[in-house]
Formats: sequence, C-alpha cells, structure tokens
Amino acid sequence: MLGQLHRAGFRAVADPSEAELIVVNTCAFLTASQQESIETILDVSRLRETGNLKKLVVAGCLAQRHGTSLLEELPEVDYLLGTGAIGSVVEIANGLLAGGLARGAELGGLDRAEFDWEPRVLSGHRHTAYLKISEGCNNTCTFCIIPTLRGKHRSRPIEDLVAEATRLAGFGVRELTIIAQDTTSYGLDLYGRFSLDRLLEALDAVPGIRWIRLLYTYPRYFTDELIDCFGRLEKLRLYVDMPIQHAADSVLRRMRRGLGWDGTEILLRKLKAVPGMVLRTTVIAGFPGETEEEHRFLLDFLREFQFDHLGAFAYSTEEGTPAGEMDGQLPEELRWERRDAILAQQRTIALRHNRARIGQSLEVLIDSVDDSKAVALGRWSGQAIEIDGQVKLTIPDGGPGVSAGDLVTVRIRGAGPYDLSGVIEEPVQEGNCRA
Ligand code: SF4
Repeated sequence: MLGQLHRAGFRAVADPSEAELIVVNTCAFLTASQQESIETILDVSRLRETGNLKKLVVAGCLAQRHGTSLLEELPEVDYLLGTGAIGSVVEIANGLLAGGLARGAELGGLDRAEFDWEPRVLSGHRHTAYLKISEGCNNTCTFCIIPTLRGKHRSRPIEDLVAEATRLAGFGVRELTIIAQDTTSYGLDLYGRFSLDRLLEALDAVPGIRWIRLLYTYPRYFTDELIDCFGRLEKLRLYVDMPIQHAADSVLRRMRRGLGWDGTEILLRKLKAVPGMVLRTTVIAGFPGETEEEHRFLLDFLREFQFDHLGAFAYSTEEGTPAGEMDGQLPEELRWERRDAILAQQRTIALRHNRARIGQSLEVLIDSVDDSKAVALGRWSGQAIEIDGQVKLTIPDGGPGVSAGDLVTVRIRGAGPYDLSGVIEEPVQEGNCRA
C-alpha cells in the first residue's frame, strides 16, 4: 500500500500529526490484537483535532473480519479496506481527499492469484526486510481465523521474489526474513510440489544479501529437501521457527494440526541434529479441554527438548473458529497460569543456553547505534528481528566505527534469559559472512 501511494505521488511523513491521510493497517488474529487495533484507530483519530488529519482509512484483517459493522461502531473511520482490496488504496485515498467519495468499505475477494507488490517502500530499517512469499493458508487449525481473513494459499513466483530481493539488496538490505502464513507450503499451488528449497536456493544467489532467515514453518510440510538446505546454503541461517502449538497428541488432534506428535517429534529431532541449529517455537496453553496431564506432558517435553526460543500464548476463544465452539473452554485464569508456568520454565532454559555463549566470538548484524557511538544493538544469527533478544555491544574508545547493517565479530561477555552483551572485536570483511 505504501508503495502504491508513493508511486501515485503521496509523500509519507514520519510524524503522524503532519499527515492528511492515515491508513491504519490492522491485525485481527486474536481478541487482544483486535483491541490493540481499535486503540490505535482511536488514538490516531484524535489527530483530526490536534494534527492535520482529514481522512482515516482502516485496512487489513480487522476490516475484513467485521466488514461494514465496523463503520457503525467506529464513526471516526472514513473507509474500510479489506485484505482483498489493498490494490484500491490509491483510488480510495484520492477519492476521499478530493471530497467525492462517501464513507464506505471495499473488502474485495480473497482469491486473487496476482499480487501487485511493486514498487515496495521500506518503512522501517534499511538493512533488514521481511519477504512475504505467499498469501493465505490451506490449513484448518481449529483455533485460527486467518484462512477466513486471508483466503486460500497463493504463492508468488520464484522470479518475482528474486527480483524483489535483488531490489531490496540494492537499497542496502542485508538480511531477509522469510514470512507467510505457512512458509513450508510455498510453491505447491504454482509448481505442483513443495518448493521452498528451490526458492531458498534462488535467494541464496542474490548478491548483497548476507543472511536469510526462515519463520512460520508448518510441521506437516517440512520436507527432507528443506532440511538439507541448512548448512548447504551459504546465507540461510541455521535457525528455524516452527510453531508446534502443543505436544500432546490428543490436543494436536483437537487443534487439527494435520501431523500427530510422533511425526512432529521425529522432525524436531532431525532439525536439532543439524550442527549449530537454533530452534524457535510457539505453544498454546489452555486449549479447550486441555487436562492437567496434557499440560504436564507439554511442560515435560519442553523441559527435555530445550528450544532456544519459545513463545507461549494463553488460548484466546475466537468467534468464527471451530475451537471457539468447543466444550471445555477453560477459565481465563487457568489458561494464563499454564502459560506462565511454561514461560517460567523457559527462562531458565534460555538463560542456560545464553550463558553457554559467554566467551564465544559471534558474527552480529548491527541494528542500531546510539548517539554516543559507544553502544550498539545487534543480533547474532540465532536471533530473529523483533521476536528474539538482542546483543548489546560496547564499542571500545577508539574502536571501529559501526553503522546499522554492518556485520561485526563480537566477543560475548554477558548473558541474560533474552539478551547477550559483548565487545566488538573487528568489523567483518565483505564476503566473510558465515557465523
Ligand atoms: S497454519 Fe497458521 S495460519 Fe494456517 S490455519 Fe494453522 S495457525 Fe492459522
């Protein structure tokens, strides 16, 4: 949307109070994320009085999930743009600002085969970017509303993604984080086979990109060809994010995850056996009907397996999902209690993993440098942007000057459950990018 608006002559401003038009792109995955979206819309709408705001558009999943009823509930909003209608953002922005377009909504279909991703404008860092390889999801996890909001799975062609990665590298991007609702299904619709391995090979050859990281893999479709990419491809980090959601077979069945516990565990052990592999997962605590025994089984497995990174969520009952209708909805308090128990256990595990890195030399990608130039924040290849911890770097007096996007070698001196700290040893030279 930003790219389309930019191409049509709109100028993005860093300070929202200067904007005449604001597009709030929303999430509606969980009740909590819907609440956060609504709070943001209400906050932004106050800029009609205190800033330059003339028109407010709400785009994305919240618009898609509630349709025109949202217009009735939120008189602050001028227009709703659903997930299938983002191609209309320029027309709607022009129509609203010129005064000819009345309040309304365009939700669009969720079956678009084509994507208009060009030209992309980066709104955050310049050295790291997400690369979205497909849209939608064909899985039917019973707790999840996403397929209803984003439609069936559609992959972007390999050439299209390589072209985008090449352009991003031209802007100075050095790290690509591969995302989609389900990255492992990539290519089945276009090429008749799971093709993430082929895509990663093609992206690995893009000059200027130094790190490629894979998020949101789905256990059922993790192929041996994909496992074989780790350690073989130069830029693909030894890092896999694979949400398992639970470990008890009975719960996985109720979640309709498509792969039972035996298959999931075999896969996890194969991934763990790749030398240097860092594993991240997410789990749901307090799914409908979860017994104390099932919760214990999950805790025991997590304690024994020891993921490097773990996110745990208290189950959220969502309208319009099969799990939302299931008997045995647990009290909120119990869901949070179980989630807290999982996280408390993980803190000890993560702290132990991080402490084992004290004394090691790690390659770190710098994300930001503070004004004094004495401290920088970065990540080693086992830390994904925005979801894992960081490495806090002390730059010695008279030490190397560094900027965001630099790869440097760091001697790790300290460790907490999430973050590491260390001292820069030397800048990493061009072409010397393996950790
Ligand atoms: S794979 Fe992910 S996006 Fe797809 S239905 Fe399951 S939880 Fe939702």
